[in-house]
Amino acid sequence: MKTIGLLGGMSWESSAEYYRLVNSRVREALGGYHSARVVLYSVDFAEIEALQSSGDWVAAGQALAAAASALAAAGADVIVLCTNTMHKVASSLEVGVPFLHLGGTTAAAVRAAGVSRVGLLGTAFTMSQPFYRERLAAHGLSVLAPSDVDQQRVHRVIYDELVQGVVLPASREAYRGVISRLVEAGAEGVIYGCTEIELLVDQSDSPVPAFPTTRLHAEAAVDWALGLRELPPAPV
Ligand code: GLU
Repeated sequence: MKTIGLLGGMSWESSAEYYRLVNSRVREALGGYHSARVVLYSVDFAEIEALQSSGDWVAAGQALAAAASALAAAGADVIVLCTNTMHKVASSLEVGVPFLHLGGTTAAAVRAAGVSRVGLLGTAFTMSQPFYRERLAAHGLSVLAPSDVDQQRVHRVIYDELVQGVVLPASREAYRGVISRLVEAGAEGVIYGCTEIELLVDQSDSPVPAFPTTRLHAEAAVDWALGLRELPPAPV
């Protein structure tokens, strides 16, 4: 079994979920007392959030590159960046160890489900900027983002509640509304494209197939670590 390097803390609420999911997946696959070989580097999210807010993506990329190098030095065989948003700086994370891109694992699952028009929920960065949408589009997907007002709703719940461990029924209702408007606009599936979103909603909150990125990413990491799956090819 190869060693999975989790680059987390963004937020730790979802990193804890990654840790649980990779271990559950190994137990399912190997049984007995088996558990995942993992190295975790968990950042102080306040530092990263400040760089996001000020738009200093270069410094954010440098901070995460240092963390990825530390994971590689600690024996990680693959880097798993436990946040959709920070994939904006994925190209800074080439540290001589394979990188399992979250957009790639998500796109592979969406395509495998036969969905080609997909709604995207995430932070405002993920929903509105090209770095994530273009990655999905490069895999042949057509991506629908919520309206501006709905994007603000979704983003606010992530930063004011979910990354702080607050899960509110009213916010679940609000997300259901956003999902149904995406479906009315033609979405055949919906990506829970922020690693905390699946702490709030699951498949039962969506009338179309839902793609929980944390679960899909964690499962892909384990399958790769066990030699059951290739890394998804990078899009051209
Ligand atoms: N975990 C989130 C994501 O998947 C948001 C927190 C962050 O900005 O990293 O995008």
